Amino acid sequence: MQDESIGDLFDTGLFIDGTWVRSSSGDTRDCLNPADGSVVATVDEAAPDDATRAVAAARAAFDEGTWPRTPVAERTALLATIADLLERDKEKLARIETLDTGKTLAESRIDIDDVVSVCRYYARLAAIESDRVVDVGRPDVISRVVHEPIGVCVLIAPWNYPLLQISWKIAPALAAGCTMVVKPSEVTPLSTIAFVKLIEEAGVPRGVVNLVQGSGAVLGGALTDTPDVDFISFTGGLVTGRVILETAAKHVTKVAVELGGKNPHIVFADADGADSVDQVLTGVFLHSGQVCSAGARLIVEDSIADHFVAALAARAEKIRMGDGLDPASRTGPLVSMAHREKIERYVALGISEGAELVTGGSRPSDPDLERGSYYLPTIFDRCDRNMRIVREETFGPILTVERFATEEEALRLGNDTEYGLAAGVRTADSARGERMVRGLRHGTVWLNDFGYYTAAAEWGGFKRSGNGRELGPAGLSEYQEIKHIWHNT
Ligand code: NAD
Repeated sequence: MQDESIGDLFDTGLFIDGTWVRSSSGDTRDCLNPADGSVVATVDEAAPDDATRAVAAARAAFDEGTWPRTPVAERTALLATIADLLERDKEKLARIETLDTGKTLAESRIDIDDVVSVCRYYARLAAIESDRVVDVGRPDVISRVVHEPIGVCVLIAPWNYPLLQISWKIAPALAAGCTMVVKPSEVTPLSTIAFVKLIEEAGVPRGVVNLVQGSGAVLGGALTDTPDVDFISFTGGLVTGRVILETAAKHVTKVAVELGGKNPHIVFADADGADSVDQVLTGVFLHSGQVCSAGARLIVEDSIADHFVAALAARAEKIRMGDGLDPASRTGPLVSMAHREKIERYVALGISEGAELVTGGSRPSDPDLERGSYYLPTIFDRCDRNMRIVREETFGPILTVERFATEEEALRLGNDTEYGLAAGVRTADSARGERMVRGLRHGTVWLNDFGYYTAAAEWGGFKRSGNGRELGPAGLSEYQEIKHIWHNT
C-alpha cells in the first residue's frame, strides 16, 4: 500500500540519460514510515548495470553534450528555476521528507528553505567571474588562470538529511557545468527522486543529471571503481568513506568525503544558564540526534554540572515525541527499527561501561508510539573519555556528560576525539571564547550558539570527519579544475 497523499509519484523508476526507466533487475524496495511502519512508497531498486549505464550517460553528456560549454548565465538560470520549483512544491516535499525520515514537518520545511537558499547561492556565486590574469613579466605573453568543470561526478548522500545533503552537491555541480550520477541513501530516497523530477521539469539537458537509487553496497563498485568518473562527493559514515577512498585511489579519482562527528558542546560556569540548557538540548536531540553535527558530548564546568544536568534531564523528559506530521510533536521517531536497535546496543554499552543513566534509556511507554521506531532522549552523566559511548558516533538521542575544572582541560577534552566536524563553546568571557574557538580543531565552531550554518560559509570536517568542503566558495571549487593558459601573442 502506498501513502495516498503522494500517490504514485515514485512509481517512475530510475532517471538515466533523460528518461525514466525501470530497474534492469526488476527489483523494488518499500520505503517505510518510521512513525508507524506503513509503506510510504515502493521504488525501483537499481542494479549495478543501471549504475554503469548512468555513469556512461553522464560521461557522454560531459564529453559530447552542451552543458559544460553552456554559458554560465544559462546554467545559473536553470538553478534559479529549480529554486522556484522547490518553493512551489515546498509543502509536498516537506511532507515526503517527514514520511520518509520521521523528522517533524517543521524541520522538513526548514530543510526545503535551506535547499532553496543553496540553489540561489550557487546561482549567484557561479555568475561572479573567478578567472584571473597573471603578470608573468613578459609583454608578449598573456597568462590566464581559468576554472573549468571537473567532469563526471558521483554524488552519494546519507539518510538523515536526504534532500539537504544532496542539494549541497547537485547545486554546485550544476553551477560548475558538471554532469552527474546521484545516489541517495536506500533508507530515504524519496525526496531526492522528487527533486530530480523538479530538475527535469526545470529543463536540465539529457544525461546531465542521472539518478540511481538502491543499496550502496551493491551499486558502490559500479559508481566508484571506474575511470569514467572524475569526482566522487560522498557524505556518510567513516567506514563507507574509507571504502570509497580506497576504491577511488586505483583510478586516482578525486574524492571529497564528509563523514561523521562526535561533537563537543563545552559549557563554562559563566554562560547564560537558560539559553545554554535550551541549546544543549536542541543541539543533541534535534532530529533525535541523527545529525552529523549533533552536540552529543556535553563538557561542563564542575561547579555548575549537577544543577545543569538536572535542568537538562527535566527538560528532556518533557520533549513531546510523536508522528512528525502531528504539529504538536517536537521530535519524531528514529529512522528505522534497525537504527533503534543500534541505539539500544549503545545504551546497554554505556551502562556496562559505568556511565550513570540520568534519564531515558528505553523506548517510550506510550502505546500510541508502539508501531514506530521511537526512543527516549537519553542522558548519561559521569562519563569518561575512555568510554566507547563518549568516543564513537552513536547517531541517536544520547547525550554524554563529562566535567572539567580548567579552561585547559576543557580544550583538551574538546579536541580529544578522532573526529573534528563541529563544536560549541558557551561562555560570557569573550577573550576566553576566542581562545577556545581558535584552539578547537573542528570544521565549524559555534560560540554561544549551536547548530547554525549558512550556504555562504564552508562546511566540512577536520581529522576523520572528512577531507573536503561543501557550501561557500570552496564548495564550488570542489567541482572545478583549474587550468593555466599561457598564450605567447
Ligand atoms: P553510510 O555510510 O551507511 O551511507 C551513506 C551513503 O553511502 C548511502 O547512500 C549508502 O547507500 C552509500 N554506500 C554504502 N556503501 C557504499 C559503497 N561501498 N560504495 C558507495 N556508496 C556506498 O551512512 P548513513 O548511515 O547513510 O549516514 C550516516 C552518517 O553520515 C553518519 O556518520 C553521519 O555523521 C554522516 N553524515 C555526515 C555529514 C557531514 O556533513 N559531515 C552530514 C550528514 C551525515
